[in-house]
Amino acid sequence: MRRVGRREGIVCGILGIWGRSEVAADLMLGLTTLQHRGQDAAGALTFDGAFHVKIGRGLVSRVFEDRHLERLRGTWGLGHVRYATMGSTDVEDAQPVHVNYPYGLAMVHNGNVVNFAELRERLYTEHHRLVDTSNDVALILYAFAAELERRDLRSLTVDDLFSCVDATQRAIHGAYAVICLIAGRGLLAFSDPHGIRPLALGVRETPAGPEYALASETTCLDYLGFRLEGDVSAGEAVFIDAGGAVHRHRGLRQKPAFCVFEYIYFAREDSVLRGRVVAAERERMGRALADAVRRAGLRPDVVIDVPASGFLFAASLAEALGVPFRRGLAKNHHIGRSFILPTDEERQRMVRLKLNPIRGILEGRRVAVVDDSIVRGTTSRRLVELLRSAGAKEVYVVSAAPPVVSPCVYGIDMSTTGEIIAANRTVDDVCRMIGADAVVYQELSILRALYGDLPCCDACFSGEYPTGVDRDALEGIRREKEDAGR
Ligand code: AMP
Repeated sequence: MRRVGRREGIVCGILGIWGRSEVAADLMLGLTTLQHRGQDAAGALTFDGAFHVKIGRGLVSRVFEDRHLERLRGTWGLGHVRYATMGSTDVEDAQPVHVNYPYGLAMVHNGNVVNFAELRERLYTEHHRLVDTSNDVALILYAFAAELERRDLRSLTVDDLFSCVDATQRAIHGAYAVICLIAGRGLLAFSDPHGIRPLALGVRETPAGPEYALASETTCLDYLGFRLEGDVSAGEAVFIDAGGAVHRHRGLRQKPAFCVFEYIYFAREDSVLRGRVVAAERERMGRALADAVRRAGLRPDVVIDVPASGFLFAASLAEALGVPFRRGLAKNHHIGRSFILPTDEERQRMVRLKLNPIRGILEGRRVAVVDDSIVRGTTSRRLVELLRSAGAKEVYVVSAAPPVVSPCVYGIDMSTTGEIIAANRTVDDVCRMIGADAVVYQELSILRALYGDLPCCDACFSGEYPTGVDRDALEGIRREKEDAGR
């Protein structure tokens, strides 16, 4: 079988709306509220007896024009924003995807399938389905469609649908939150057995009856006027049928392991994930950092954030230390992402273009600069230089996340072990490499204590992968990243 190049699945933003009137305008608005989860491509699909699709590269505001809204007719719809990764330039594997057989099925997904190659091979040998895309969601869609095909389609029941979800969950390993529009039948959503990626269900009352939305983050539900009903929890499936009845199914459930990096970096601060407001979690983490700073014997004169993702951590750290919090770095918000640039030089240059030190705040001071995380160390290294050049007497780099030591195989774009600065290195090594006077990390044990009653996936900090990941899989990811970089 031909080997197709594959770009790993990545964290994205997804949205599904089961409405009673035209849905396109809400889909567009909803996608803009998820824009922080992906700026590389956006797509929407609606259903009014036929599928209507519009997918394009770039921001939501750039992809959709008024004429697309008119064309995207229907009361049910799906939307997707895709996060950029190195080497992604096409819309070919953007979402939503759809097939017309055995049912009209359309799908969006967020996450990463770990056993992609094996599953693709199986779909071909067992079901004669040739999945010649590099796209995770196409694979999930085909796996689900292959299960549907085995059922009696004329008398398909809700239980049949749920048993297809169970079988799909058994076949696919990895992290996934999926929303599937089944033509004429309804909207189906399901999560991987560990519930690694977020997905929330909301309801909105209208004179015609309730409407439903499923979204990666509750901020989207808020803007669209949907009340949060609850999460699609680990392994759970939710089906909203054509009459508007909501069916829930426990599905294949294993030990929950929600992605802790959503709280640290990815999600927006106003979202509620697994019952917890992201902003409050970041403040808790920030306060917990105060002990680490004290233990390191550091007495900063001022605490500053790396805008904008370091803000909540920095403000609460400063409060807990009793040290002033100031804006020491100005950010140009209209410049692209440095994180995904291919070379270290380009990334360093981009950090400089993005951030500018504010002189009066820094001169002669011992500055604690707080970022959400240190991955390759590119940002921190450049920042230390910048802060020194603006007169800082000493620079302490504080990371709200523990040392990143292992790549994420569940969709957070995080580089390979070779690039990760803290992999196989001590904190002192990291400090030397980025040229700081001190580096302080959140301790993993403290982070875990903060999450005591909410089991999280912290594989990037611990190397403990909830689905189990063997060396071959990690090596495969390294190769895929290299291929993508070429
Ligand atoms: P690095 O420069 O490689 O150490 O990256 C760390 C910086 O990138 C921090 O400022 C984070 O806010 C940001 N960051 C961390 N993880 C990601 C990610 N997956 N995608 C984009 N930015 C990230």
